[in-house]
Order: sequence, then C-alpha cells, then structure tokens
Amino acid sequence: MKASVAAVMPVTQRPEVVFVEGRGSRLYDATGRRWLDFVQGWAVNSLGHAPEVLQRVLVEQGGRLLGAGPGFYNGPMLRLASRLAALSGLEQLFFANSGAEANEGAVKLARKWGAVHKGGAHGIIAMENGFHGRTLAMMSASGKPQWRGLFEPRVPGFSHARYNDLASVAALIDDNSVAIMLEPIQGEGGVVPATAEFMCGLRRLCDEHGLLLILDEVQTGIGRTGELFAFEHYGVRPDILTLGKGLGGGLPISAMLCGEAISCFEPGEQGGTFNGNALACAVADAVLTTVAAADFLAAVRAQGKRLRRGLEALSARHGLGPVHGEGLLLALDTAGLDAPMIAAAAFEAGLIINAPRPHRLRFMPALNVGANEIDEMLLILDGVIGNG
Ligand SMILES: *Cc1c(COP(=O)(O)O)cnc(C)c1O
Repeated sequence: MKASVAAVMPVTQRPEVVFVEGRGSRLYDATGRRWLDFVQGWAVNSLGHAPEVLQRVLVEQGGRLLGAGPGFYNGPMLRLASRLAALSGLEQLFFANSGAEANEGAVKLARKWGAVHKGGAHGIIAMENGFHGRTLAMMSASGKPQWRGLFEPRVPGFSHARYNDLASVAALIDDNSVAIMLEPIQGEGGVVPATAEFMCGLRRLCDEHGLLLILDEVQTGIGRTGELFAFEHYGVRPDILTLGKGLGGGLPISAMLCGEAISCFEPGEQGGTFNGNALACAVADAVLTTVAAADFLAAVRAQGKRLRRGLEALSARHGLGPVHGEGLLLALDTAGLDAPMIAAAAFEAGLIINAPRPHRLRFMPALNVGANEIDEMLLILDGVIGNG
C-alpha cells in the first residue's frame, strides 16, 4: 500500500507538500526542503515545533498515564485546572478537545444559566464576521458571510451585531437575551481588535441587563497578544472564557472557564470522552507554566513590536496599508495586492503565512520566535512582494 492524498477528504486546498518534521520555527518535508513557519499550525504551536520542554512531558506522562476517562480525576487535570483558574480569576473550568467544543460548552452553560436564573432566556448576541468553530451550533454563532445558507437549517438562538458598534448590540437586546459572545480580536475575520470603548461598553451592557459576557479567546488566549489573556488589555473580566489553540502547544485541548456563581451544570449535562485526559493536560500545564512567566510575556511583547515595526517599514516601502493586531497576532493590510496570491508565492519562497481576507496577511509565529527569524521572514516577504 502506498500512502497518498486520495484517501483524505479535500475539505481545504493543500499544497503538494508532505511535512515530516518541525523544529522551532522550521518545518521540513521528506526531501529536506525547509520552511520558515509563521502560522504554526494556526496559532497552535505556541512554543514552536517539537519544543524540548514538551518532548520531556510527553515521554514522562506518556509512560505513566494517558487518561483514566472523564469519570475520574487525574493529577495533570487538577494541576492545569487550578493553574488556569488562579491565572484567569475564573474559578471553575470544563476541559474539551477543540475550540468549537469549548464554545459549545459556553453556549450550553449560558442557556442553562438562562433557564435557571432568567426564566428560560436563551438568546446569544454574537458578532458579524465572528468565528467560533465549525460544529453546527458554532457555525450559527459565527458571523462568517461565506457560510450563509450552508448546512441549513441553522441552529436557532443566535443574532449578530456589528463588531465595534455598541448601539447595534444594544438594539438586539430583548427579554430573551442571555449573553453576548465575541472574540477580543476577530482572528479569522482578519485580525480586527475590539476597541476599548466597545469592550468596556459591552461589559456595562451585560451588567445593566443581567447578561453574560462570553469571550472566545481560543485564538487570543495563552500569551498570543502579549498578555496571558487578551481581556487583560481592556481591564474587563468576562463571565465565561474559552481557550484552545495555543493552550496545548500542538496537542488538542481546550477549556471553558466561568465564575463560580455562573457554574450551574448538573452532573450528566455536559461531558466528553477525552476531556481532561492526563496527557493533554500535562502538556498544556507545561505550556501554561512557560508562557505565564513574566519574562516570557515581556519577550512576546518585544518580538511583537519588532514584527510590527518591520511590517510597517515593509508596508511603507511597497505602498501597502496599516498593520493590525496585538502582540504576535498581527495582520498586514495589502491595500490593492491579492493577499492569498502573496501567501502562495511566500510558500514557494519557503515562508508560511496566511491570508484570512483577500487583502490581509496574517502572522502568528511561535511565541518564542527569535528576532533573527522575524528579520528573515520580513526579508523573504519583502522579496516576494517586490517580485509580485
Ligand atoms: C480556531 C478558532 C475556533 C475553533 O477552534 P477549533 O479548535 O478549530 O474548533 C474558535 N474560535 C476562535 C476565535 C478561533 O480562532
């Protein structure tokens, strides 16, 4: 039997390359060809490819206990839960395996809370161009225009306001509303940060109307923006917080956290076979311990600044638009240039970047990316745009 692409469903367009190895910010195919990786598994490999700290934990925990099932506690599960609760200020947590699943948990919790405390109110106000995952309910929660009409019928209970437009949110609040749900920076929407005015205004609206503020930090959480959680930039505390992507440093794990007063699932109402498995929790605990260190986050901010300045200089040289985002979640407005074509040309030149919108390039390198790697990335990109 020969391994081939024929057996893999073509749910996305993949280049004709098979990766076999990664190290830090480098990816290699079987022929030894090398790429500089500024996507990192979609902001997932927060410590880069195959970091030594995770190799150690994988061997150690893998040789001890992979999991005992969701009906039992295990050591890493309790360590990670306690650390996340202490660092976020949200006392209770539910583990899952993907961002979509954590968000489903958030919506289920909000609906349960509405059933218990708000006479059955269950409406969730989400945002246009928001992205919360690919399950049926999360596709309905997401405000991705390309998904309209897909996999109908939609899951009811979601309405969509305009991002950074407080009045459009206020206009959707009614007796049936239970929560407002958004990303602090719309990642898949093209790296669009919420303004401080919007975020603080949403907190105020939630307090006034007795609504829950659900922050989807699947992309922005765990150091990506230069703070451990993006909500710290705003001084706003969510009622429910979801994490995924970078939490596992490459392993699938996600989490949904909430304040103690909101935690209202009864036993049997929520769960999942792999949730809180010891291996993923041990790895995530090592990621979190590494990232939460003050000097680590200071380095993320410093490299974020270096990347931003470099992109701004490149933009000025080629007459492109502004840089958006925070920390190491940045996007360059390509003005008139076709961003997916630039990303494809960059791939040919040995650089992996992504184009979430027709005129926006996104950069989400490892959080421990080196200054030399940032400079090399800028040089390759400069050449690609210069030749285009
Ligand atoms: C990626 C992402 C998700 C979905 O996570 P999956 O692990 O793919 O299910 C949800 N919300 C945001 C903000 C994301 O960036």
